[in-house]
Amino acid sequence: MVSSRLPRLPRLPSLSRLHEVALDLAALVWPTACVACGADDRDCCTDCRARLRELPEMPTRELDGVACLVRGAYAGPLRAVLVAFKHDGRVGFCRLLADELRAPLLQAIRLASTHAHGPSSAPIVVPMPSRPRGERKRGYRHLDQLIAAALRVPRAPALRVRALRTTSGRVGQVGLRASERERNARRIAVRSSVRRLLRGRSVVLVDDIITTGASMRAGREALEQAGANVVAMVALCIAERRDATEDPAKSRMKF
Ligand SMILES: [Zn+2]
Repeated sequence: MVSSRLPRLPRLPSLSRLHEVALDLAALVWPTACVACGADDRDCCTDCRARLRELPEMPTRELDGVACLVRGAYAGPLRAVLVAFKHDGRVGFCRLLADELRAPLLQAIRLASTHAHGPSSAPIVVPMPSRPRGERKRGYRHLDQLIAAALRVPRAPALRVRALRTTSGRVGQVGLRASERERNARRIAVRSSVRRLLRGRSVVLVDDIITTGASMRAGREALEQAGANVVAMVALCIAERRDATEDPAKSRMKF
């Protein structure tokens, strides 16, 4: 009599285990260290990835009456991975950061959809612009890449439009005093080629880091002057400025 029992097959390693083995082998050829904690052999180690995923959800803020959704504080692994992606050419971190941007971005798009009228007027997602010099140096538009990757799965009913540009004289915001920041932030304009598209549309404005909100405020003003309705703002991180936290009047960001 032939047994109907099939021979027991050797247990195959799981895909995640195979992935770990592949990373171990890669680390032998290209030694690396975790960008956030310095642990050996991983560009961002398992613990730091877990810390990223487990960041608590932030309450929705308001910036001049507009909902402002943020993933987390500009600190820890979120900060380390963003700095590496933005300033060190570590483009491989795009997906990791996009996974963190996705939830607040989709929430903002849902909010904007309730203000949109009809399927032909799906919300428009607008990235805050970088200075052309920064983009040339970097070689890629980091925020556009992040937004595109965040919206790839699942495909969100929103249009991505690079509607804003910086105008001449704009410098980096880091290191400027509050008054200089406001003045510098206003050097943003709407591209003339998209003015007609923006008229009457609901917009979600996105940036990587929000500090005092001066840039977002300037972006919103420019978009609304072109006839758009900025319904929500989204940022991957929020960096609290010491002078803003000591004097709340210097920041109009609130919970
Ligand atoms: Zn780590």
